[in-house]
Amino acid sequence: MKSNNTFRIALFPGDGIGEEITDPTRILLDEVAARVGGFGFDWEPCDAGAAYYRKHGTALPEQSIKTARAADAILLAAMGLPDVRYADGREMTPQIDIRFEYGLYAGVRPVKPVPGVRAILADPRAHDIDYVIIRESIEGLFAPIAPGTRDGDKEARETMVITRPVCEKLFDFAFRLAEERGGQKKVTSVDKANVFQAFAFWRDIFYERAKGFGGISADHAYVDAFAMTMVQKPWSIDVAVTENMFGDILSDLGAALMGGMGYAPSADIGDDHAVFQPCHGSAPDIAGKGLANPTAMILSAAMMLEWLGARHGSSEAGVAASTLRRAVEGAFGGGRLITCELGGDAGTEAVFTAVRDALARVDV
Ligand code: ATP
Repeated sequence: MKSNNTFRIALFPGDGIGEEITDPTRILLDEVAARVGGFGFDWEPCDAGAAYYRKHGTALPEQSIKTARAADAILLAAMGLPDVRYADGREMTPQIDIRFEYGLYAGVRPVKPVPGVRAILADPRAHDIDYVIIRESIEGLFAPIAPGTRDGDKEARETMVITRPVCEKLFDFAFRLAEERGGQKKVTSVDKANVFQAFAFWRDIFYERAKGFGGISADHAYVDAFAMTMVQKPWSIDVAVTENMFGDILSDLGAALMGGMGYAPSADIGDDHAVFQPCHGSAPDIAGKGLANPTAMILSAAMMLEWLGARHGSSEAGVAASTLRRAVEGAFGGGRLITCELGGDAGTEAVFTAVRDALARVDV
């Protein structure tokens, strides 16, 4: 942080709807900082993404990596376009490369519906769902040290990598989060230890680390059964920690249970850096139409404020996080703001305006 209480934020609008939801979020962050007072932002726009690759031949330029490394936090919208691919057919995913670059092992994906948004599950207890999926974000089936191989049209292979140092940090992170949340005080390992060596190893380390957190209970679930629990008994979950690929899939299920991808925020946190970005991708099917719901990005920005506040001892940033969240709740609270993915007509501008109006009204 600069000496004048200004946080330097590397801002990646990226591709598709990413560009559309970035400005509303930045404006709300500036406004919440002005309302709370005592801190502000220096915005440092960074190039990256599929559209950038199409023009310049690289998806994540060196300059953006440098800027992001020097920043206090990274705020990223969405990246990738299905029609822009590497020669081997893969889409470019600089948002994933950034996680590797800065060692962002803990992908934090809260599953907590915004009050007033139509509940997807019929059970009334579903209104109170409040849990967090921690997606390991630099190894597993995405590990860059073991890239997939393909032998012509004969076979293709991928390797899952689980290492002790990353597991130890990841599980400690999950147990600490359960302590801080002070809810059910429970961490669940979501794995497939009955079939795969890598997950048996994972689970051994999970229970080893659990011993260091006496006040928190530890249990485990197989990923297939856990997917069912997310639908049938989601109120029984507190903190769930899982491998990269499983986390990718389960967090989309969590997003659906909140109302859609446009409601699901996330953070990718490492020891020294963190990226905050919505769980969704660049959604090319709705890009350019003004239909994108910016809520996931706004809530990711609130997570950024909370993280900055804790890291820099800035109570103002912490207050701004809860103020921004209350503004989102104020916007949706009456149940009349219905976004396009839920069959309503509220697009980017309508949601932005409603949150902005609510922000002007909430007590700080
Ligand atoms: P990626 O693999 O890059 O994460 P994805 O394949 O999960 O992307 P998304 O881009 O997340 O795909 O989109 C999935 C679906 O959710 C699409 O139908 C898209 O229109 C919808 N969607 C995603 N984000 C939003 C949003 N912010 N507002 C409304 N709908 C969205």
